[in-house]
Amino acid sequence: MSTPLTFVAVHAHPDDEASSTGGTFRLLKNEGVRTVLVTCTNGEYGDDLSGNKPDHDDHDPVGVATHRRGELEKACEILGIDRLEMLGYHDSGMRGWAGNENPDSFWATPVNDAASKLAAILMQERPQVIMTYNEVGFYGHPDHIQANRVTLAAIEMLDYQPTLYYNTIPDSVMERFRSRWAEDAAREAKEKLERGEQPDEDSGPPVDEHGEPIRMGTPDDEIGAAIDISEINDAKYDALAAHQSQIGESGWMSMGRDEFRKTMTTEWFVRVQDPHERSGLVTDLFVDYRSA
Ligand SMILES: [Zn+2]
Repeated sequence: MSTPLTFVAVHAHPDDEASSTGGTFRLLKNEGVRTVLVTCTNGEYGDDLSGNKPDHDDHDPVGVATHRRGELEKACEILGIDRLEMLGYHDSGMRGWAGNENPDSFWATPVNDAASKLAAILMQERPQVIMTYNEVGFYGHPDHIQANRVTLAAIEMLDYQPTLYYNTIPDSVMERFRSRWAEDAAREAKEKLERGEQPDEDSGPPVDEHGEPIRMGTPDDEIGAAIDISEINDAKYDALAAHQSQIGESGWMSMGRDEFRKTMTTEWFVRVQDPHERSGLVTDLFVDYRSA
């Protein structure tokens, strides 16, 4: 019996699977590909049900993790994910937070320890295609950076070479998103002022440990795969909405379904390792594995 086509995505927190690969997951499932999600942390540092941030005295990390697990399971159902595995690490929080030092945190876990756990799953599934984030975790979050390191180390432990993709956004699209975020931030600040509240301080673009801005996005001509998700765009919207406690107030939800349909039509990836050494842009992550 030949190995079924299998896709594994390695994500950092509950909700990342929906935001960066929700469309891809649903599309692959509809095409009969087996889909597996590995979520590395429990997402303890998400907002709690009262909207409290993790630095709030009443914030309950265990309660948040339990609730987010339920939201994640709902999103998996919507996306048709066949298997969900949580590695169970504690959320590390943003760079510089005390949580980075927690020995149970994903960030503080030795890469090879977590990689062995992931490799055991990969050996069972033998996915042809694996996806995670790039070495800066796309935007610098320690858990996303660690997901990159752990995935690369786990692949080294395999007895075969899968195709590895990193999710990304092309520079040209990033440009459009940036102006949209700036507009949203300006509108929010204005609304807060009108209510007599102090607007949030602009934290500026994310920076690395040296204070250098992180390069988010990829030059358009280096994109390896552009997946058209317009046909199943509603599933992505619903999966994001399932993460109500984290995403309920987000720009995605405030877009509403119609604008989301028009805006979020594609998911992009960079091809990092590939036994077929394919170059150029593909529109199907399994292009070299179909009918093999
Ligand atoms: Zn995340």
